[in-house]
Amino acid sequence: MSTGVDYVGPRAAFATLGGSPTWGLGDRFHEFAAARGHARLGLHRPRTPYGLGPQVEHYRGPSGREFLRIPTYGQVVDEDPQLHASEWKTFWILWKAGVRVLLVGGTSGSCDWRRTAVDEDAVRPGDLVLPKSYLTRDTMPTGLPGTELEFCLPRQVAIMDDPFCPPLAEALRSGAGRLPDFRFRRIHGPESNVVLNRWLAGNGFESLATCRLLEASGRQIGMPVITGDCVSPVLARVCGMHLAYYHVVANWGTGLEPDDPTITLNRLYMGTLPAVAARLELAFLDETGEPTACRCGELLRARPPEYARALSPRGTQ
Ligand SMILES: [Zn+2]
Repeated sequence: MSTGVDYVGPRAAFATLGGSPTWGLGDRFHEFAAARGHARLGLHRPRTPYGLGPQVEHYRGPSGREFLRIPTYGQVVDEDPQLHASEWKTFWILWKAGVRVLLVGGTSGSCDWRRTAVDEDAVRPGDLVLPKSYLTRDTMPTGLPGTELEFCLPRQVAIMDDPFCPPLAEALRSGAGRLPDFRFRRIHGPESNVVLNRWLAGNGFESLATCRLLEASGRQIGMPVITGDCVSPVLARVCGMHLAYYHVVANWGTGLEPDDPTITLNRLYMGTLPAVAARLELAFLDETGEPTACRCGELLRARPPEYARALSPRGTQ
């Protein structure tokens, strides 16, 4: 890690990390965007304290709003995201670029216990979910090493109510309702209490046992669980960002139904989904204002100075 790195790249208040919903466009997101009046102004590859960062695309939308896009959660081809500190690099760039609203999309497997065909309320493939909360099965990054955000717990604590900004969830819900020629089977907003089981990087889906466990826990706590890609909500809060998160339910959790999910997924990823998700993202980034009626800023709580003084002082070399 080298701490003396300066950020060299574009700045903007709005950004997206793309994600699996737009995978089917490959590296042609900018062509899709250009056809709808969003100009790509530049391509950058900033250095970060943790090594060379992911690609940063700089756009200007039809309204004149500028925004950044880092493809697929900041992941780089053939690199293990965890081994190469992908999430640190990505969030360091967004933080330095002044991003305050971060849009992320994912596709999910549903582990809803209400799986009978007649249960219309269940979270089923084809639905859009704006999750209420999250679970995590790994230790997720919560700070940015080498910066003042490395370990800020004694100075400020992120309360994780409303990890996904509620007014931005509403903006996504109404944006999804205005999509031309496409309707999700059902939109589950935060009031549906859907929990996203965080998963960001790895070479396998959840096992049958994990899915059954999530199904049973969901029933027990009365909150259906979906499994899917999710950047660290704590890191976003610590970096001062409102996190907007949407999930397209693509399949049932592995093993819960007899179908091989990869067949459904490839069809979905290469078919209608990329255009639908790209439209939703572009409209959101161009039109949504920075929310004021939320608690995202307030939920990063300052703590009494005594707490930091209760730790050993910083060492001098
Ligand atoms: Zn917010």
